[in-house]
Amino acid sequence: MEAATSHVDSPSSYQRLLGKVALVTGGASGIGESIVRLFHKHGAKVCLVDIDDDAGQHLSDSLGGDSNTCFFHCDVTKEDDISRAVDFTSEKFGTLDIMVNNAGLSGPPTNDIRKVDLADFEKVFDINVKGVFLGMKHAARIMIPSKKGSIISLCSVSSILGGLGPHAYTGSKHAVLGLTKSVAAELGQHGIRVNCVSPYAVPTDLSLAHLPEEERTGDAVAGFRAFAAKNANLQGVELTVDDVANCVLFLASDEARYVSGDNLMVDGGFTIVNHSMR
Ligand code: NAD
Repeated sequence: MEAATSHVDSPSSYQRLLGKVALVTGGASGIGESIVRLFHKHGAKVCLVDIDDDAGQHLSDSLGGDSNTCFFHCDVTKEDDISRAVDFTSEKFGTLDIMVNNAGLSGPPTNDIRKVDLADFEKVFDINVKGVFLGMKHAARIMIPSKKGSIISLCSVSSILGGLGPHAYTGSKHAVLGLTKSVAAELGQHGIRVNCVSPYAVPTDLSLAHLPEEERTGDAVAGFRAFAAKNANLQGVELTVDDVANCVLFLASDEARYVSGDNLMVDGGFTIVNHSMR
């Protein structure tokens, strides 16, 4: 039998995405911003897209702009926007190796199904599900001819559990997990890996909007941290946006070259302890 060959031939400090081209949706703030910064640090050329033009342009400029990073206005719910963002990135940087579908919305925090407004429900599904579908579709258009690529979508512990967030959010994240499995099954034949990452709670604009009314007292971020710590499994360690970005980096890199169709939980064991459903 032929001996297994090691593909790990560099020290841990090397730039893990050197020579790769990435597109990150919702890259102007929160987890997306951390992903953009980490990808840039690891040598990738990164196009960040968002509906927040000021924050997106500012982040791109702060990373040196033009030759390695760029900002492109894109609303992920619009197919033309996603299509143009993917074409812009691959034309500017020569290809597209990594697509990160990160943009997301939690929607109003009500969990009384009788009071959930249809327009609010649809808006969450538009961004969280349609946006991810469009990102996968147009990334695949570029990746299939090059026979390689990594597509990573931001999911949530709400991809496998109910009762943690608003109904629309939970439904949308279950759908993202389903899309991930379905598209991974199709694109494997082309050498393209498709995965998602499911974080527990980290304070950002999105998650602060998620906080139940009764927990909203005083400093919102401090209140959120206390709420998250109280309900966490892993004690004494606070989840940060960089922890999530590092997991996305792993899936984007060649170190994850045989990982596809997976839902990487970044939850400190929250789901396994509370629900044993992993
Ligand atoms: P955030 O609100 O801090 O950032 C979201 C970004 O997406 C913003 O820059 C926003 O402008 C952008 N965006 C919103 N709608 C858009 C659209 N239509 N088109 C393009 N960009 C758009 O949120 P975050 O907490 O960083 O969340 C990022 C992802 O991580 C989401 O998919 C979210 O569901 C997931 N997530 C977050 C947490 C958490 O605790 N923060 C936990 C689990 C999963």
